[in-house]
Amino acid sequence: MWRARLFDFLLFFSALAIAVHTRSLDVEVNLYIKALFLFWAFSTLYHRLRVVKKTGNTTVDYGISYSLSFGIFAGPLGLLIFETIYRFTVYINRKRTKTADPEEFWDTFYNIGSFSLAYSAAYYLYNLLIPFFETLPFGFWILLFLLVFVTSFLIDTFLITVFYMLGDVKTFGDAYDFYKSRSLTDMGKTALTNGLLLLFIHQAEWGTLFALFLLNYLVSLSFYSKSQSIQDKYERDKFEQMAYTDYLTGINNRAFMDKKMTELSQTEEYIGVVVADIDKFKSINDNYNHSVGDQVIRHFANQLKSYLNVNDNLFRSGGEEFTLFLRNRNYVQCVDLVERILRGVENSTVEVEFGSETVPISYTSSFGLYFYKISEQVPLEKGYIVADQLLLESKQDGRNRLTAVNGCNNAGKPVLVKN
Ligand code: GH3
Ligand code: MG
Ligand code: MG
Repeated sequence: MWRARLFDFLLFFSALAIAVHTRSLDVEVNLYIKALFLFWAFSTLYHRLRVVKKTGNTTVDYGISYSLSFGIFAGPLGLLIFETIYRFTVYINRKRTKTADPEEFWDTFYNIGSFSLAYSAAYYLYNLLIPFFETLPFGFWILLFLLVFVTSFLIDTFLITVFYMLGDVKTFGDAYDFYKSRSLTDMGKTALTNGLLLLFIHQAEWGTLFALFLLNYLVSLSFYSKSQSIQDKYERDKFEQMAYTDYLTGINNRAFMDKKMTELSQTEEYIGVVVADIDKFKSINDNYNHSVGDQVIRHFANQLKSYLNVNDNLFRSGGEEFTLFLRNRNYVQCVDLVERILRGVENSTVEVEFGSETVPISYTSSFGLYFYKISEQVPLEKGYIVADQLLLESKQDGRNRLTAVNGCNNAGKPVLVKN
């Protein structure tokens, strides 16, 4: 840790030494202050739209930086002043909104140092190389792109050094992955933006400069809010899916069943409500263990699922009790389907892990089926209670059977099917 801190200060004091060495600003003070204010204001505004990435226990900010054009325009001393004011504004903002990392104060020195050094290098390289590049077609733009490339490489190298000291980067592979995460599109965007800013500032085109900053901000803002809302929706969906899924079987849980019941109660559809329950399940738990019991529950859920259509619904409504909503079927079809499930379960065995062995287990199940037409008077919640009651009858009558009632029988009297 202390080595990383030392490195932070090494960067900061190197930047300070270079700034002091150049001693004077490259431009007239009046012009400098105007530009400083504009760059500071938009950099601070833009900071809101930055992309933050967590690497190990350190957070890295990727936002567009206007420092390249400012550094080339104002020289190392002007740049250091800009970076100091800008980075401390960010720090104070984060403190105010309580989003600052615990080490943020020291990291601020690191940021000032690393950005000032990288863009001071860009300043020297620019002045050295521009006479040559000016002779080439698009030379100015090629040089700017090269400078973005070099400064990105420098900034990444400083970061990798810190990460190496903190143990977040261990191998050359890690370091390579880090460099690789830079995108050429982003670099192109930075080169183009900074190139235009530089051209306008040299011509003292303040209005155009302001418009360019604003355009850049608004374009990014619209992308940012779109990506933000996509991200929000993704997280909401994921959260909802988790909230409605039973962790053991992966099928829908009771909460989802309640939601579905409310939804279907608005319709007037014919529906087969089935409540299914494993027989003597307690004895499986007792004779083996809870984990074996879990494996049997999972097997039962998969069995039930394998008989259903996409339109049907299956829920784990309690421990080893499941509820099915059979849709788009008539009464006879529902009875027929449940009979097949019942025989299927009876005739299958489940291979469970019990200690270090694999043991085959057979079990049976009982069902209650209530077929009827959903209405305002008899919402699905009521239909479910009837089906549950019918399951109880199956249990009382000896288990491993179906008790079914056709609530749509014209005579109005329930018709019982027992086997
Ligand atoms: P019946 O034929 O009358 O249904 O008898 P049963 O033994 O199945 O009786 P009951 O439905 O009352 O027993 C359910 C048992 O299921 C009680 C509870 O300990 C157990 N159980 C509930 N949830 C789970 C679970 O997630 N995993 C396991 N292994 N057991 C569970
Ligand atoms: Mg049971
Ligand atoms: Mg039960």
